[in-house]
Amino acid sequence: MTNPPTPARVLLLLPTTTWRAEAFLTAARRLGLEVTVGTDRRLVWAGREPERVLTLDFADPEAAAETVAGFAATRPLKAVVGVDDDTVILASVIAARLGLPHHPLAAVEAARDKQRQRDVLDAAGLPVPAFTPCRLDADPRAIGAKVGFPCVLKPLKLSASRGVMRADDAPALGAALRRLRALLASKDVGACGEDAVTGLAEAFIPGREVALEGLVEGKALRVLALFDKPDPLDGPYFEETIYVTPSRLPADAQAAVIDCATRAVAALGLARGPVHAELRVDARGPWIIEVAARPIGGLCSRVLSFGDGVSLEELILRQAVGLKTEGLTRERRAAGVMMIPIPSEGVLERVEGADQAGRVPGIEAVAITAHPGERLVPFPEGSRYPGFLFARGETPEAVERALREAHGRLRFVLSKAGAGSTANASPR
Ligand code: ADP
Repeated sequence: MTNPPTPARVLLLLPTTTWRAEAFLTAARRLGLEVTVGTDRRLVWAGREPERVLTLDFADPEAAAETVAGFAATRPLKAVVGVDDDTVILASVIAARLGLPHHPLAAVEAARDKQRQRDVLDAAGLPVPAFTPCRLDADPRAIGAKVGFPCVLKPLKLSASRGVMRADDAPALGAALRRLRALLASKDVGACGEDAVTGLAEAFIPGREVALEGLVEGKALRVLALFDKPDPLDGPYFEETIYVTPSRLPADAQAAVIDCATRAVAALGLARGPVHAELRVDARGPWIIEVAARPIGGLCSRVLSFGDGVSLEELILRQAVGLKTEGLTRERRAAGVMMIPIPSEGVLERVEGADQAGRVPGIEAVAITAHPGERLVPFPEGSRYPGFLFARGETPEAVERALREAHGRLRFVLSKAGAGSTANASPR
C-alpha cells in the first residue's frame, strides 16, 4: 500500500495589518494545501506551531530567505505567495533562493517604485504622463515648468492613493509639497532616506479610470476582470469609491486598455503571478497610471468569483502551486464593490443603517471594517476605508445603483474633539 500524497505546502507572507489573510487561508483550505504563514512579528503561539508559522525579518529579505531555506529543507515548499506590495518583493527574493517560480525581483521592484515604474514604461514607449522626480523642498514653479498644470504629486512608495494630490497651479503645488513632506515624516509613515524627501510629479491625465485584475502566466497577461470606476476621480485627492465589472467602455477602448496593460506587464518583466493595473482613458487613448505586482487590495477581491465559487485567492494559489486555472473565468453576472468613503475626520462612535443598506436589492454584503473608537483620517493623509459594500446584478448599471442606494442608507456617527457629530454618507 502506498501512502496518500503529502499535500503541497505554501508559504503565505502576511503583514500583520492585512485584510487578506482570511481569503487566502480559506482558499488554501478548499484546495487542501498546507499553509505556513510567514509573519514579521513573533506571535505568542508561533513556537507551538512551527510548521504553521515562520517568523521572518521582513526588513531583511536575504536573511528571511535563508530562514525559509532552512525550513524548506525538511518541509518542502511548493510556492511562496505575498499578498501586498511589500510582501511580493520578499516573496520574490525567497522564491529565487528556493528556485520556485515567481515574478522576478527586478520586475516587482520596478513596479513598487513609482518613479522606476515610470522610467521603465516610458523607455518602452508606453503611454505614461509626463513625469519628473522632485525634492519636496523644490520650487513648485520649476516642477510646473517640467510637467505643466494641472499636475499630480505623489510619494514614491505609498499605496492606496495615500499622499496623492492634484495641484492646479504653483501655490497649490507648494502646499501639496509641504503636505507630502509632513505625511512622509509622520510617525505613522516613517519614510527614510530618499523616500522621505523625494516625490514624483506628473501631468494630470483627465478621463475615465479603469482597473484591471489579471494573472501573468508564462509572461502573458490573462485578464480576469476589467472594472470601471464610475465616480469621477478628478482630485484634489483620489479616494476610490465604486468598482464595477464588466466595463461599460466601448469594446475598442477595452481592447486598447488590455493591449496597453499587456505591453506594460512585458516591459516591467512581470512573469508569473497576479497583477492589478490602473489606467485612464481619454480622447488620446489609454494611459498607464500604475501596474502593481499583487492582487486588488482590502476586501475588494470578494467581488470576484470564478467558476464554482472560486475566489481570486484560490485562483492565485492554484497558479502558484501549478494547478489548472484555465477555464476558470469570472461569473456572467455584473458585480461591484464600493470602498466606503471616509465621511470626515473624527473618532467613529457607531455606524447606523447597515441593516437597511443590506436590504437594498442586489446588495450581497455590508462589511463595516472600522471599529468604534477608531480615528477616521480622510485622504490624502489617511487611506483606510471604513468599510465595503458588495453587489451583484444583471447589469453594471443595476450594480452601481444598488451600491449608491445602500451607501445613502449608512450614517457614520463620529465624535470630534469631544463633540458628537453625524456624517451622513449621502450618495455620490
Ligand atoms: P497609489 O499606488 O497610491 O494608488 P497611484 O499612482 O495609483 O498611487 O495614484 C492613485 C490615484 O491617483 C490613481 O488611481 C488616479 O485616480 C490618481 N492619479 C495618479 N496619477 C495620476 C495622473 N497622472 N493623472 C490623473 N490621475 C492620477
